[in-house]
Amino acid sequence: MTSSLTWLGHATWMLETCGIKVLIDPFLDGNPSAKQSAVDLSADFVLITHGHGDHIADAAPIASRTGATVIAAFEICEWLAARGVAKTHAMNIGGAYRFPFGRVQVTIAHHSSMLPDGANGGAPVGYIVTIANGRRVYFAGDTGVFLDMQRFAREPISVAVLPIGDNFTMGPDESIEAIQLLRPEIVLPSHFNTWPVIAQDADAWAERVRRETKSRPVVLRPGEKWTWQ
Ligand SMILES: [Zn+2]
Repeated sequence: MTSSLTWLGHATWMLETCGIKVLIDPFLDGNPSAKQSAVDLSADFVLITHGHGDHIADAAPIASRTGATVIAAFEICEWLAARGVAKTHAMNIGGAYRFPFGRVQVTIAHHSSMLPDGANGGAPVGYIVTIANGRRVYFAGDTGVFLDMQRFAREPISVAVLPIGDNFTMGPDESIEAIQLLRPEIVLPSHFNTWPVIAQDADAWAERVRRETKSRPVVLRPGEKWTWQ
């Protein structure tokens, strides 16, 4: 079974598995690093980690146009439903649910989650998605490192998507610590180089990952797709 991850720029990702498209944190039209427009994307599901504009800006238009189901914190689902999104699936920390593309478990994330109009977005979260063959894919969302990451690694993590931009989230130093706790086979960097304040040298980061951890870094350029078996 082949799955793929496409980095659409900033913290926006497309997971494709079992022929199902799962769009994570859609932020395209106002995203200086995005190569695609929101109107060009199709999705079956949309996963939202928290309510900030750089993670949710294009969620309602994409979900309304495509009929995708949005998976998010309860508060975010209510907010999107009030903006015309017909299909939402509310979840919260610690909960898991089996979707057609895999089992989604909601994790903590140390961040904040106010929605663009000031509404309460609930708690910020991350997701562990267990896809075909039991492969676990961890989307950390926006967060600093936390010791509970050790718990996530009780069962092997195949792929981890971690922020490395610093300033708003963990930076390269904390990400190395996170990788040492999570011990993923593969790690992909996210949430960097969108604006000068989160500029990072991803190749230097990858070199550190190879030197200081047992994980393999995969650095994509915006628009680039990585496929694995
Ligand atoms: Zn963010």
